[in-house]
Amino acid sequence: MRSSSDEPSALGSVKRSLYSDLLHAFLKERETLRMAGWVVSDPGSPAWWDDLRSPHEIAIAAVLVQLNSWEKVKEAVVYLRERGLADLRALSGLSVERIDSLISGINLHKSKAERLKRLAELYLEKGDELFKQYETLRSIKGIGEETARAIMLFAGNVMTVPPSDYLSRVLSRVLGVKLTKEEASKDVLRALGSLFQLKLFYAGITTVGKLFCKPRPRCEKCIIKAHCKYADEATGSGTSLTLL
Ligand code: SF4
Repeated sequence: MRSSSDEPSALGSVKRSLYSDLLHAFLKERETLRMAGWVVSDPGSPAWWDDLRSPHEIAIAAVLVQLNSWEKVKEAVVYLRERGLADLRALSGLSVERIDSLISGINLHKSKAERLKRLAELYLEKGDELFKQYETLRSIKGIGEETARAIMLFAGNVMTVPPSDYLSRVLSRVLGVKLTKEEASKDVLRALGSLFQLKLFYAGITTVGKLFCKPRPRCEKCIIKAHCKYADEATGSGTSLTLL
């Protein structure tokens, strides 16, 4: 494990121990993660994303998922797969209009078709390296930091953490300190030392954010309530804390 460069080592060590407890909880609750679409798998496997089968499918899904439900996105990826088109090389040979017609069930399908076409063209230039290149991914209109880093982590197997609202909200409450999504992302990256840990942590936190840690949290059923400062203080005082 790497040591934190900008916080006292005692605090860094307490935090690493807490993150380790969270990882154990996520591993134990892998069935709950499964309900949220995450499959705990080998570190380099694409199956983490609801049993998707390749880095290409992950990149395609990452582009489609903004403003769409995961169920719709999975359906679209399977539809492409059944036609041999869930592959950026195959998509690069299609017109934007044709891609648009193939993903017509997706919200904002026209702009998503343009993004997929651009992603596919870049894949022809860069090959699998594309999945590791932050600046190249960000050069595609509509691909923000979270999407780029999600592709890098799950398709490119790069040690990075997508800065998400779930990450910020859940970690702020667990630690009892308000963190921006960028701060939360950097903190997790500093504390965890392997690709498997980063993927498991991100999948677990996203599951908690989606199922339990909503704007009004459902701590009673939460899988990490034993490790959460917010839940601890709320139970101890019997009062509702200001929502972090
Ligand atoms: S215990 Fe409550 S506040 Fe803590 S992470 Fe779970 S839902 Fe959020």
